[in-house]
Amino acid sequence: MVDIVAIDGPAGSGKSSVSKQVARDLGYGYLDTGAAYRALAWAVAEGVVANNPTPNLHEFDYSISLDPDKFWVKVGDFDVTAAIRESRIAENVSKVAQVQEVREFMKQLTRDLVAGSGLPGVVVEGRDITTVVAPDAKNRILLTASEEVRLKRRSAELTPAQAAEVSKQVSDRDKSDAKVVDFMTPAPGVVLVDTSDLNFEQSVAAVRSVVERG
Ligand code: C5P
Repeated sequence: MVDIVAIDGPAGSGKSSVSKQVARDLGYGYLDTGAAYRALAWAVAEGVVANNPTPNLHEFDYSISLDPDKFWVKVGDFDVTAAIRESRIAENVSKVAQVQEVREFMKQLTRDLVAGSGLPGVVVEGRDITTVVAPDAKNRILLTASEEVRLKRRSAELTPAQAAEVSKQVSDRDKSDAKVVDFMTPAPGVVLVDTSDLNFEQSVAAVRSVVERG
C-alpha cells in the first residue's frame, strides 16, 4: 500500500509549495489534485472536451507528473502546465468542480494515480483529500492561514491593481468552492496547521512534525 499524506486547504495557504517540499524530504511523490480540475476546465474552454450540460469525462485524457522536481500536466498530447494557471481558468474552475460526477471521477482518478505510482508514498494536496479521497490516510492535515495572510501571499509579486484583481478572484473562488467542500474546518482526526505566523521553512517543519508523530 502506498502511504498517503493528505493535505487540504484554501488558496494561498501555502499548500502547494509546502506539500512539494514535504514530498522531497520524505522521498515521496507529490500530487496536485487541483491541476486535474484546472485541466478539465481548460479542456472544456478549448473544446477538447464537450460540455453539454456537463463535461463528457470519457473525452478527458489526463496525465500528470508525481515528481516534485519535474512537474508537468497534460491533456492528451498538450502540455497544459502553464495554461492551467491562467486567470481565465482560475475564474471557471469552480464551475466544473461543482459537478458531482466530476468530483466522483476525480476521486477515482486520484486514487488510481496514487495506487499506480510505484512509490512508497505520495503527498496528495487538494480540498477534499482528508475527507473524501483518502479519509483513511494515516496523516491528514488541514493547512490554513488567515484570509489577510493568504491574499498577501498570492499578491506578493504583483502590481497593486493586479493584486486587487487576484484578491477578488481568490476570495470568490474560495466562496464558491466552499459550497461543495468544507476545507476551512478540520474533520475529526484531521490535524490543523495554521501557517499565518509561520514562514515557509517553519510551515514545512510543522507538517513534517505531524507526519513524524504519525
Ligand atoms: O488547488 P487549486 O487552487 O489549483 O485548485 C483549483 C480548483 O480545483 C479549486 O478552486 C477547486 O475548485 C478545485 N478543487 C477541488 N477539489 C480538490 C482540488 C481542487 O474542488 N481536491
